[in-house]
Amino acid sequence: MQSNDRASVERVCAGCERTLSLPPSLVLCPTCKWALHPGRTRTSFTSLYRYYGLLRDLILRAKVQNEPRALAALVDLCKVHGDTQRAMRGIEYVMPAPSSLWGRLHGKADIPWHLAKTLSRTYGVSFLSPPFVLRWRWRKQAHRKRTKGFFHFTHPQNSHMLPTLLLVDDVATSGETLRRVAARLEHHYRIYFLVLADAGEC
Ligand SMILES: [Zn+2]
Repeated sequence: MQSNDRASVERVCAGCERTLSLPPSLVLCPTCKWALHPGRTRTSFTSLYRYYGLLRDLILRAKVQNEPRALAALVDLCKVHGDTQRAMRGIEYVMPAPSSLWGRLHGKADIPWHLAKTLSRTYGVSFLSPPFVLRWRWRKQAHRKRTKGFFHFTHPQNSHMLPTLLLVDDVATSGETLRRVAARLEHHYRIYFLVLADAGEC
């Protein structure tokens, strides 16, 4: 018999790993989707989710265990999020945060790269690689230099004339990574920030 579920297919939810009938547009089952904690939006900064619970699990599964289903789920969550659509408005370039090389050398999936590539394709904006010099110099930073308070960024004066760039990262803790890229690029681009999850103080 025909039903509304005609487009749904039997799939495994990337969150709970149950097999159920999901329309192609849904990455997670509704229960898992509800378990995600919303992020926050500031002037030039958007985080889609809090780095907590299921989202944190998905990131660790994608990054550390190289689990394709978890990575695909994260990319899709980012792609279709309403706040992503808002953050992409007026953006001319997307760039992944350059945590990548450290991760790649350690066999970890480069989530920011996948996110930025997908946003570039989906929204038809140019993809930029992070400056090479930053990639080589950088190490894992999550536990270094914790600044008080969460990431805050003010555009330099007269940056209105510059091309717009969205810098994309998977997790922001203190925002130190974003700050360092911004310091290098802020006189060439008007920079905005999008992170999948933020673990910063509220
Ligand atoms: Zn689920």
